[in-house]
Amino acid sequence: MRDRLNIFGVPIDKVTMADAVDMVQNFLKEDRLHIVATPNAEIIMMAQNDEEYKDILNKTDMNVPDGSGVVFASKVYKEDLPERVAGFDLMMELIKIASLKKQKIYLLGAKSDVVKDAYLNLIKKYPEIDIVGFHDGYFKDDDEEELVNDINEKKADLLFVALGAPKQEKWIYKMKDRLNVKVAIGVGGSFDVIAGKVERAPEMYRKLGLEWLYRLLKEPWRYKRMMALPKFAIKVLFSKKQS
Ligand code: UDP
Repeated sequence: MRDRLNIFGVPIDKVTMADAVDMVQNFLKEDRLHIVATPNAEIIMMAQNDEEYKDILNKTDMNVPDGSGVVFASKVYKEDLPERVAGFDLMMELIKIASLKKQKIYLLGAKSDVVKDAYLNLIKKYPEIDIVGFHDGYFKDDDEEELVNDINEKKADLLFVALGAPKQEKWIYKMKDRLNVKVAIGVGGSFDVIAGKVERAPEMYRKLGLEWLYRLLKEPWRYKRMMALPKFAIKVLFSKKQS
């Protein structure tokens, strides 16, 4: 039985980073696709107006608690989630293990120069890593078949999909019967960070749960999307714990 916290219809697995990494290692032993999502407050708010997205987030194999908003909600509901498991950090942990265990990785998403730079930076940092392929995230529906064939032919174990939310989870779900990978995980803007195009918030901001503030200062044009955060906090404070 999975121990989960339901936040406005989106189940969040009560896992630490170490638990999440272990779960993925177990998924990698099974010969079927496992979908991992990293819901944060923004994603949970998106799912409120998007039944299809909410439904997909209920059918994943693991949803890690990404973002301080989710941890805040768990505190209000007196069901402390052990810690925040940021999608980016989970990806980096999985990459480290994959390079030791020779698990095959495929990178899908972001602009073509970004995904290429992410690939180059990763092979520089982890010379043992087995990245079997990469592809940008601006493909047409007509190119999908060729793309899925490439992922399957290269026998990728782990597929990182950086198309942004909700596109990445919807794409993985749509392709679930055609993809032969063992784990597919949506990682948002992570390739931009790995490629060095976008800076991650300094540790001080992350420790204080203020990564959102750093992002707002750096990318103020995102403020409209980020309005989801205070809306989420208010919704949590005025709601009762959900079963
Ligand atoms: N992206 C993509 N294809 C698209 C739309 C977006 O590959 O059709 C990429 C975009 O280049 C960026 C990532 O998806 O690398 C989205 O990053 P963002 O920070 O917006 O995602 P979030 O983490 O907020 O979901």
